[in-house]
Amino acid sequence: MASYVVTPLPRPSVAVDGEVARFPVQRIYGVGFNYADHAVEMSKDAVKTPPVLFGKAADTLLADGQHLSYPSKTSDLHYEVELVVAIGTGGAHIPAARALDHVYGYAVGNDFTRRDLQTTARAQGQPWDIAKTFEGAAGIGAIYATPMVGHLKRGRIWLSVNGVIKQDSDLAQMIWSVPDIIAELSSYFSLQPGDLIYTGTPAGVGPLSVGDVVIAGIESLGTLTHRVV
Ligand code: MN
Repeated sequence: MASYVVTPLPRPSVAVDGEVARFPVQRIYGVGFNYADHAVEMSKDAVKTPPVLFGKAADTLLADGQHLSYPSKTSDLHYEVELVVAIGTGGAHIPAARALDHVYGYAVGNDFTRRDLQTTARAQGQPWDIAKTFEGAAGIGAIYATPMVGHLKRGRIWLSVNGVIKQDSDLAQMIWSVPDIIAELSSYFSLQPGDLIYTGTPAGVGPLSVGDVVIAGIESLGTLTHRVV
């Protein structure tokens, strides 16, 4: 047994639908501008250029029902509903044709973003970390294993704030499919069991205020609810 000079924190993990055992989280990756309509609203061309890839820290996960503390240093906190891929089997340089074999399951995610800091970073060619990684930045619902839900290629993806629908699209609108994303990501990184991939958000992103209740949903993956405090 290793010993440590300071007490290690518990490993981040996510609930799995129908299981007592939890999904242990290794890294969290994100994909930017992966729905044509959202790319356009962010002043990007909706063409299949290599996707923008970024990371979120694994200890920023925020489970269903937990409150999101409005983060510091922003006045424009945004929601982004996303399909999250949970990697069960690792690998590097995974061909797209074999990519789905590496998927354990899927979940609804909310890629909370300090939009004002991201806009400044984009304009100045700086990294996105301070926009994408903060306490509670990675909303995550229960993971549904592939034997239960199969591989999701289409289906409604939506988000509401205080009961008003703000995002309403279909997984079929993704520019980079899940196999394409896994192939591309694994050409840069060795994917590991426990990795989560946030696969991008459709159009309709917008701000959240203290007191708001934000609900994200994907057909067959249930819903994910957070209150901003
Ligand atoms: Mn996103």
